[in-house]
Amino acid sequence: MTKRVFLDYAATAPQLLPVHELMGSYATSALGNPNALYREGKLARQALEAAREDLAEVLTCSSQDLHFCSGGTEAAGTLIEGIARGSLERFGKNQVRMHVLCAAFEHHAVLKSALSLKRSGYNVELLRPNREGRITPESLEAALRSDTLMVVVMCAQNELGTVQDVARLTSIAHNAGALFVSDCVQGFCKLPLNLADLALDAACFSSHKIGGPFGMGAFYLRSSVPFLPRALGGGQERKLRSGTQNVPGARGFALAAKLGMAESLAGENPRLAALRDELLASLTQGSERIRSTVPVVAGDTTTHLSGYLHLLVKGIESQTMVLKLDELGFAVSGGSACSSDSLEPSHVLLSIGISKDDAYGALRISLGKVTTAEDCARFCEALLSIL
Ligand code: PLP
Repeated sequence: MTKRVFLDYAATAPQLLPVHELMGSYATSALGNPNALYREGKLARQALEAAREDLAEVLTCSSQDLHFCSGGTEAAGTLIEGIARGSLERFGKNQVRMHVLCAAFEHHAVLKSALSLKRSGYNVELLRPNREGRITPESLEAALRSDTLMVVVMCAQNELGTVQDVARLTSIAHNAGALFVSDCVQGFCKLPLNLADLALDAACFSSHKIGGPFGMGAFYLRSSVPFLPRALGGGQERKLRSGTQNVPGARGFALAAKLGMAESLAGENPRLAALRDELLASLTQGSERIRSTVPVVAGDTTTHLSGYLHLLVKGIESQTMVLKLDELGFAVSGGSACSSDSLEPSHVLLSIGISKDDAYGALRISLGKVTTAEDCARFCEALLSIL
């Protein structure tokens, strides 16, 4: 049987072997509830806090500001709703900041949470990215108002792979007195995310995108930010997210983060960028019908995620390509995995000015740890063969 080639790391990264082994070891251990007072509970609490410390070290932030939850979707919704409701509660009738700016190409977990704030009386405005897939400092400056409560811009775009200048955007938002929230699900362990330098007010992370277990995530929230929790109950996670914590999940997530960050710092990013560049060159030389959706500079590891390539292919639909490539042994995506059952063109592509017709031929290829030059060469041949 021919080897399957997985090229959809942006949707989920296969679990790392040491994480898999660690998770397995918990199956036979006598862990208690981390909130219980007896010995098994204390052991679980120690494991949970060790995971929090490890994650905080990777992110360069205080472990007290990191809270575990079930994944990126929950983290994003919890933060956006929680900050909006918390501000209304803290300032009551004196709350004058009722304007929210959200990038139009955010993941639906963020976009829908932001738009839902309209029901609480917020005025939610979408920030248009430019044709290159970025929110420019100028466009943020122009859109900010004296009543803007928060600005929401992701750190790396999950379909396009474009990296946003979050440090600059945060400083612009802060100068206008607004908070800055960033979905860091895609950038985590692929970019040197240093929360101490970035000055974000809130950020969210997901474990399965970095080779950790599914159903696990975390959010970072600066302690001074107004916030009301979404999940109410036993008051776990410093009362910000009730529910018994997933201790093995937290340990697996933290281990994946440590390994992932060490790897990207140790040269994985240049390797992936070289594979991406070679793949793009072979595909575009192989067919005039293929073009890169956004410009990608060869060797770029900082303003475009190293292993991400988004293509527009003329005369064939995304779904047809995905299914034909699947038959040939390749796993790729027609856009974002979370909306792969939708026949609508991606809101991300429309937001950067791609026409509906062109957006129907979208293909996202994302490379990772086990991707080789041979995999990419075989993929190139397979894609060209179905056109
Ligand atoms: N944010 C971004 C940018 C994503 O790519 C995803 C997943 O595709 C999410 C949030 C949701 O994360 P999760 O799958 O952990 O709920």
